[in-house]
Amino acid sequence: MLGTMQDHPLVISDPFEHGRRVYADSEVVTFDGEGLRRATFAQVGERAMRLAAALHRLGVRPDDRVGTFCWNSQEHLEAYLAVPGMGAVLHTLNIRLFPEQLAYVINHGEDRVILVEDTLVPLLARVAPQLRTVEHVVVIGDGDASALGKALRYEDLLAREAPTYEWPELDERSAAAMCYTSGTTGDPKGVVYSHRSTYLHSMAATSGAAFALNEHDRVLLIVPQFHANAWGLPYAAWMAGADLIMPSRFLQAEAMCKLIRLTRPTLSAAVPTIWSDVLRYADSNPVDLSSLRMVICGGSAVPRVLMERFEERHGLRIIQAWGMTETSLIAAIALPPRGIDPADEMDWRAKTGRVVPGVQLRIVDADGKPVPWDGEAVGEIEVRGPWITGAYHRAPTLEKFDDGWLRTGDVGTVDAKGFVQITDRAKDVIKSGGEWISSVELENAIMAHPDVVEAAVIGVPDDRRQERQLACVVLRSGAASTPDVLAGALASRVARWWVPERWCFVDEVPKTSVGKFDKKVLQKRFAEGALEVREGQLPESGS
Ligand code: ADP
Repeated sequence: MLGTMQDHPLVISDPFEHGRRVYADSEVVTFDGEGLRRATFAQVGERAMRLAAALHRLGVRPDDRVGTFCWNSQEHLEAYLAVPGMGAVLHTLNIRLFPEQLAYVINHGEDRVILVEDTLVPLLARVAPQLRTVEHVVVIGDGDASALGKALRYEDLLAREAPTYEWPELDERSAAAMCYTSGTTGDPKGVVYSHRSTYLHSMAATSGAAFALNEHDRVLLIVPQFHANAWGLPYAAWMAGADLIMPSRFLQAEAMCKLIRLTRPTLSAAVPTIWSDVLRYADSNPVDLSSLRMVICGGSAVPRVLMERFEERHGLRIIQAWGMTETSLIAAIALPPRGIDPADEMDWRAKTGRVVPGVQLRIVDADGKPVPWDGEAVGEIEVRGPWITGAYHRAPTLEKFDDGWLRTGDVGTVDAKGFVQITDRAKDVIKSGGEWISSVELENAIMAHPDVVEAAVIGVPDDRRQERQLACVVLRSGAASTPDVLAGALASRVARWWVPERWCFVDEVPKTSVGKFDKKVLQKRFAEGALEVREGQLPESGS
């Protein structure tokens, strides 16, 4: 027996129409470093329809890929709405990729049109000669674009069109947007979101089980729109009527605090490195962060001290979330459960997150067998669900899937309440004399030291135990901690055999294109002898 419900497809033009009509007065605000540029959802909606008409006039048809090479901005949001709405596929390009990788993803994605912000023209121009499928480049803004030769202007194209567009009827399973993973191992891999997956993921993001977004929210979107669709927030905010605040390229802590003062956002999202910078700035400058009810932090493990210090010093509530490009983003979020002792709240929030409704999760051991949800048994996390990818775009990667489950490459535990604790990425685990050491946990413990700004731990060869941990530490300016001091302090936080013997001090931990610790670069520097490794001794002990 079938249900009696209408089989209405879940397509992006539906929430688009909803947002622009029902929340016509909600706003999209773009920062220019000094002032703000505002547009209502009604205005953005009209411009998105003009954009769809303009792209159609350029020859864009369903399934054609339209790339964006932009910071977070109103125009970038217009592309998010127009391109999938018209049945084409939005391909958000990571502006921080190396030129070879950028050319690779544009060619592999077969982008026909690219929308580029004027300030980013020189970066795109570097790869222009290698692009095989791009027919038109459209420049947003009126800055110099001569490096690209012949380029169209976004505003000219929009001005020619009427502010209406007849959205086509689409199969909900058809492609809406694509994102490539940042390719820390091998070539970047393309994930293609469908209309259905985007719709469902956005609903989940607005729900109380995740961000509880509504019309009263103002979302400061720091996570780039090219990083896993800004974690789904643009669509979620649009369908909930929440204002969107776009920082453009002004991502330094000082600019960010100014933007927060000017716009009083209620919610924001970014990787931990951004929030560490904001914390350092806020500690020594007068700032008011009180408008933020929730700050979503993820993309890599969130150091517990970061959450504690923000809360104690600035009343700011960081909530950790976990996901990947492959999971559209939200797979788990660390909202504390009910019935706990308030004194224990931080213990819950320091976990990676609780699996969200709509995502199925299991942990499998080395033999591929699911382990119990006891918070103890460790294995690889696997997920499946309507917004989890089941393949990669034109790339045979069977090893990434296990009988319909996505193998995340993350290692950890899950407890009876569905709280996941990631201990490492499979490739970052340190295997010391047959025992595993969690680099994430160790980094967390080292960063708890008041002299430490950042710490990344990598595995290096060791004669006795095959592999041992090397701690690469950034010290607060003026701090004089030695390896012995740091090792001594660490011994009270982790097992003695976890305490590194090898330490090195660096000016900065190298970061990937989306702001995560880039351990591959540290490994390479170590292999080349470019890291100055120092010994840190623990005082003798009977244990
Ligand atoms: P890339 O794989 O290119 O780095 P993603 O943003 O898709 O880009 O990375 C997803 C990975 O980021 C996850 O598999 C996990 O290893 C890591 N990650 C994300 N959120 C967290 C978190 N809260 N704690 C620990 N690791 C996280």
